[in-house]
Amino acid sequence: MAEAGTRETLSTDILVVGAGPSGLAAAIRLKQRHPELAVTVVEKAAEIGGHILSGAVMDPVGLDALIPDWRLKGAPVGPAVTRETYHFLTAKGDWALPHALMPPQMRTPNGIIVSLGVLVRWLGEQATELGVDIFPMIAAVDVLGGGTEPVRGIITGDLGRDHEGNPKPGFAEGIALEARYTLIAEGARGSLTKQLIADQGLEHQPQKYGLGIKEVWQVAPEHHQEGRVDHYLGFPLDNRTAGGGFVYHAQDRKLYLGLVTYLDYRDPSLSPFDEFQRFKTHKSVAALLAGATRVSYGARVVAAGGWQSVPTLAFPGGGLIGCAAGFMNAPRLKAIHNAILSGIGAADAVGDAVAAGRQHDLIEDLGSRVMATGIEAELKGVRNVKPLWSKLGTVAGALAGGLDLWSSAILGRSLLGTLGHGKRDYQGLRQKGEVRARTYPRPDGKLTFDRASSVYLANLAHDEDQPVHLRLADPAVPICVNLPRFGEPAPLYCPAGVYEVASEGGEPVFRINAANCVHCKTCDIKDPAQNITWVPPEGGSGPNYTGM
Ligand SMILES: Cc1cc2nc3c(=O)[nH]c(=O)nc-3n(C[C@H](O)[C@H](O)[C@H](O)COP(=O)(O)OP(=O)(O)OC[C@H]3O[C@@H](n4cnc5c(N)ncnc54)[C@H](O)[C@@H]3O)c2cc1C
Ligand code: SF4
Repeated sequence: MAEAGTRETLSTDILVVGAGPSGLAAAIRLKQRHPELAVTVVEKAAEIGGHILSGAVMDPVGLDALIPDWRLKGAPVGPAVTRETYHFLTAKGDWALPHALMPPQMRTPNGIIVSLGVLVRWLGEQATELGVDIFPMIAAVDVLGGGTEPVRGIITGDLGRDHEGNPKPGFAEGIALEARYTLIAEGARGSLTKQLIADQGLEHQPQKYGLGIKEVWQVAPEHHQEGRVDHYLGFPLDNRTAGGGFVYHAQDRKLYLGLVTYLDYRDPSLSPFDEFQRFKTHKSVAALLAGATRVSYGARVVAAGGWQSVPTLAFPGGGLIGCAAGFMNAPRLKAIHNAILSGIGAADAVGDAVAAGRQHDLIEDLGSRVMATGIEAELKGVRNVKPLWSKLGTVAGALAGGLDLWSSAILGRSLLGTLGHGKRDYQGLRQKGEVRARTYPRPDGKLTFDRASSVYLANLAHDEDQPVHLRLADPAVPICVNLPRFGEPAPLYCPAGVYEVASEGGEPVFRINAANCVHCKTCDIKDPAQNITWVPPEGGSGPNYTGM
């Protein structure tokens, strides 16, 4: 929370932080309804869509509501889903679950396979045509105002500081961007979102997260069935580790495959990256990848707490939208539509407030207008699945969750009331002496890979001579506390090889290779000592995903 001080200050009517589906939907809706307003979007990626990673099968209800003629306008989407199957995997077996058994809340009848990065770029063009000012390469690093004051905008990141924080030639100090209202659309575990939730007391129940790791492969024609969608429970994750895999057959013989590992896993020797490598070795997945080429790699967390974890959305001077607020329907792994719908609901509330001559105050109906877009009904209907899964394990949790969904579908309410999430994700981690340490096979370079060759496919750009953006509250904690207790899990949970425990003169040292960071945010969530804070590096740093 900061003040502008001597910084250059620019003003706009509505400021949106983050050019994902939620932020761009809000900007588009504002300009559709209030063309006279100045709407500004800042985005930390070098290009719109460059930091976007999703599965993705999109439920089109959000896009239908925002741009009803999106098909006529040529929105770049992939094929309609032709077949959707849920499977339970064991190391050697694959059981497809009969479609009739799937509760209605798990189905997406009009699902479309999309590359969300590509779709978001198109949404950016639509917004620009309407007169929205979009600034990529600009990271919002702090909130203007806050505390007992209303939020009045943001501070953007400095450009051109060296490793020690000293200005380099060409240094440009970040500016203050003032707005009548500020919408925070940073996606899951946003850095400003985290500050605001704490500062404004917005949290109800802890948010839960999963780390999604995804690859895009170009596959042989005989292994490709455009429009086919498969979801997997079970292997490679053990029964106590929640999560699941997906394989989507997109256009142009592209396969989108990934594994989401929920971050409330207990075993500190577990590596979500290596579990994803194991996923690809299952016969049902490996068969599809015969003769195929890996094209891209990336990782990003999903917010999975659902209805119980949705914070208060409005604060004086603005609101939270999209996965910053956690609108993911976790059992369905769908949130793009809710991100867009939340942008619409918030834009309508903010637009009405500005039209009434208001600014910087609390928009009381912002939260209810967002939730009334359909988000509340959807998330409430599946609210017990994630807690059941976490408490009972995959097999019993999936069965109990399925029964709960069916009873809700038939009776209109859950027989279980509302189950709580309990602990934060990092709190369940066992100490290393309490588990048998896992070992993972060496990658074969065909189906399975190491972190270095994977991260290469994320097209990273990061000037190493800048302050490290993974901030340790106490630099001694990784070696003095985490190493003896947990074996320091950072090198295992980070999917990009940023953290390393090396040896110098026979003594362990903790290294941070910040330039490898793909902005997934896992370390900010899973560090057992809560000693790591992810802050945005210089705008334009990080992955440059294409087609994710
Ligand atoms: C592996 C995986 C699979 C998924 N599969 C599906 C699926 O199949 N179907 C589905 O519907 N949903 C799926 N989702 C969820 C979906 O991708 C998200 O719900 C959606 O992207 C959320 O949109 P958003 O706008 O809230 O945030 P995001 O898409 O995360 O966009 C946020 C944007 O804000 C920018 N930003 C963040 N912080 C700052 C800052 N401080 N300053 C400037 N810019 C900032 C980011 O760079 C990013 O561009 C999946 C997610 C993952 C990770
Ligand atoms: S450093 Fe943190 S945010 Fe960056 S890739 Fe590793 S776990 Fe993700």
